[in-house]
Amino acid sequence: MLKVRGYAAKDAASALAPFTFERREPGPRDVQIEILYCGICHSDLHQARNDWSNSLYPMVPGHEIVGRVVRVGAEVTNLREGDYAGVGCMVDSCRGCSACNGNLEQYCQFNATWTYNAKERDSEQLTFGGYSEQIVVDEHFVVKIPKTMNLKAVAPLLCAGITTYSPLRHWKVGPGQKVGIIGLGGLGHMGVKFAKAMGAHVVMITTSPGKGKDATLLGADEVLISTDPKAMAAHAGSFDFLLNTIPVGHDVNPYMTLLKLDRTMALVGVLTELTPPPTGISMIFGRKSIAGSAIGGMAETQEMIDFCAEHGIVSEIEMVAIQSVNEAYERLLKNDVKYRFVIDMASLKQAA
Ligand code: NAP
Ligand code: ZN
Ligand code: ZN
Repeated sequence: MLKVRGYAAKDAASALAPFTFERREPGPRDVQIEILYCGICHSDLHQARNDWSNSLYPMVPGHEIVGRVVRVGAEVTNLREGDYAGVGCMVDSCRGCSACNGNLEQYCQFNATWTYNAKERDSEQLTFGGYSEQIVVDEHFVVKIPKTMNLKAVAPLLCAGITTYSPLRHWKVGPGQKVGIIGLGGLGHMGVKFAKAMGAHVVMITTSPGKGKDATLLGADEVLISTDPKAMAAHAGSFDFLLNTIPVGHDVNPYMTLLKLDRTMALVGVLTELTPPPTGISMIFGRKSIAGSAIGGMAETQEMIDFCAEHGIVSEIEMVAIQSVNEAYERLLKNDVKYRFVIDMASLKQAA
């Protein structure tokens, strides 16, 4: 077994703290990665604090993982020692169901094995995430990162990137369309960059007027302040697609008025109740849809990384040391990050 150091939550109320645990030695199809950087996703915070009532402790969060390959099993074909590699939200799936066979492992009928807050498929062993120094993953669930990319700013692509890229592709966002990205955090700012790169007219839809100044940097064409009813009314019935990244229950009805006939708002942020729930009228008059989307499959995750390399897209980041992870969580809750915290894993080597 490999002895690995990391940071863990021991229950929903405690701060994350140093934690040492074991990972398997790489098998024939495994890749061992020295983790260099790990993004902090709002899902890490939700799960560390048991917001979704399914948390398993001790929990080492982190599913925006990038690092250097240090060892590969004998049957590994796609990666070699020294390559840069990424691991996102999944480390396994059944590999036999129609979703897995269709490159949609995230919708595996027998549940994907999540990178943390899950059990391995064949044992009661908990999975542990990227707030740690090493990870061992089957090569099917590892993507290759081109050496030319800025690795620190690539880390958030492994969750925030694919979670926004996948629905924009699924709903065929492109030139001639007006697309709204709701909520300008880790996911939302990637959504703006992707929608722009795909050729759409992009509107940042935010509750934070202060973020409007960043519109040009991120690539948005317009900014819409969602708390301004007059501004919302001026955009009514004009959007071809909305991507909603708001992390908590909220009233979706005002956003639905923005859609054109037959169009869709895809939810990626809120996993719990919508409060108040959507009204029938918000969908019926205009034959509109509310849909949802989870991350993306492994082939699409590699496609997204390659799209980013081609278009010069990375995340806007603020680096933090692992010792500051609890403070970073507090700032994330206060909406005080532009736009993604990334942990420099070298900080683990400093005295805890
Ligand atoms: P984040 O960085 O905290 O960003 C969320 C943004 O939503 C905030 O920056 C804020 O933007 C807006 N917001 C926050 N609270 C709000 C409220 N009460 N009402 C309206 N707007 C609000 O979070 P993230 O990392 O992007 O994650 C967003 C959500 O996606 C989380 O719930 C996470 O668990 C989920 N997620 C889902 C998937 C998936 O596969 N579906 C994958 C990853 C994450 P403004 O200041 O611009 O309003
Ligand atoms: Zn995430
Ligand atoms: Zn499956």
